[in-house]
Amino acid sequence: MIIMKFGGSSIGNADRITNTADIVKSNIDKKPVVIVSAVEGITDKLIELGNASAEGKGNDSLDNINKIHYEILEKLELDKSLVDKNIGELSTIINKIKNDKKIDNKILDSVQSFGERMSSKIVAAQLNKIGVKALAFNAWDLGFITDSDFGNAEPLKETFANLNKNIKKLSVVPVITGFMGKTEDGEITTLGRGGSDYSAALIGSAIDADEIQIWTDVDGIMSADPKIVSNAKTIERVSFEEASELSFFGAKVLHPKTILPAVKKNIPVRVLNAFNPKGNGTSILNKVERGEQIIKSITSKKNIILIHVDSKRMLGAYGFLARLFDVFYKYKKSVDVISTSEVSVSMTLDNEKNLNDIVLDLKGIADVGVLKNKAVICIVGEGMRSIPRVLGKTFSTIGRNNINVEMVSQGASGINITFVVDGKDAESAVKCLHEEYYK
Ligand code: ADP
Ligand code: ASP
Ligand code: MG
Repeated sequence: MIIMKFGGSSIGNADRITNTADIVKSNIDKKPVVIVSAVEGITDKLIELGNASAEGKGNDSLDNINKIHYEILEKLELDKSLVDKNIGELSTIINKIKNDKKIDNKILDSVQSFGERMSSKIVAAQLNKIGVKALAFNAWDLGFITDSDFGNAEPLKETFANLNKNIKKLSVVPVITGFMGKTEDGEITTLGRGGSDYSAALIGSAIDADEIQIWTDVDGIMSADPKIVSNAKTIERVSFEEASELSFFGAKVLHPKTILPAVKKNIPVRVLNAFNPKGNGTSILNKVERGEQIIKSITSKKNIILIHVDSKRMLGAYGFLARLFDVFYKYKKSVDVISTSEVSVSMTLDNEKNLNDIVLDLKGIADVGVLKNKAVICIVGEGMRSIPRVLGKTFSTIGRNNINVEMVSQGASGINITFVVDGKDAESAVKCLHEEYYK
């Protein structure tokens, strides 16, 4: 069995859905289990709709979402009533939000779920139309149970056995909603933006898939985001570790959590292009032979908050770092990049949740500075540590391009160099480094 996950871009309109169904059909001998995202752009629209409704607005957005799905069905010559029930249910929820004049993470998750719930039905119907027996499933119907961390949920242990049992007994191609599950109490949860990749990896791990295929709109994992560097190259093979670093530090092509379930079971992951299905894509493997190109990819992540904590008044006092991290623990906040010196600690966060409270608590133990709109740039490649020149080359390139570096960190694993620049310099930093390392 293989997992075939199709992102929003692969099912962005009727033609693309036709293309996706054809790709599934041509892999039918491998027993595909299909996971889908919402139609491209729909999750953003649903979030906007939910938030606007709490302010009594949003009628146009609901009409627009409905129209996009009905038009796709019409073009594909499928039964237009296929999504009627979903649209009716969504309207009811939206009316309730309008009446209550408020929305919370729990309700927002149920609003967001409609994207995948509708796209899975459409893809399954298209598959049946071309002669592939398929059935759409909401992930929870197959036993995908999560905790109740709405917007960032994690599967419960029993999910794996549930999925294994329920998927293996099917005699049709399942088309499963990515991105979501339900709590034990039956509340809908989502796994975080871009989370369909994670669903694919979790489901792949549950059924011991032979391979997890992530189908997207580019030729695989590339040496940089092709939207920033037009001549970025496709990387043939990366290790699990490299892939997890580069997805964590901004390569949106793969959700950072995707790798772990695959690593645990040693299931190969392949990133493939739905618009170039004959391409080899990128294979993510446990171990990769070291080639000539040590630097694999250069990534950037924007909207980063940089926190400087100056601990002079704590100089020599033990327990300072413990107290510092207690604050982050208290707010369940993970720090992404960190760098320390005798008297100061610099850290980055990728969102503002609880920022004010965190800063207030930190001020109780040290002087604190907060800088917003920063970007993390990350150079990834196994074996970098053995090439001392990499550090020198990186920062002389950055300096030559008049980009100011605000913090540097070299991960203990020796497979990345990470540094912080101003947000406005993110693209030029990626471009000049790519030019330097991919001459
Ligand atoms: P999907 O809809 O298939 O989930 P995403 O938009 O989430 O697709 O991810 C694909 C996009 O990731 C590409 O279009 C590309 O612009 C972006 N991207 C960022 N960094 C990289 C990288 N290093 N390699 C490939 N794509 C990247
Ligand atoms: N549809 C969800 C999103 O846009 C999940 C995904 O695409 O992976 O975030
Ligand atoms: Mg994605």
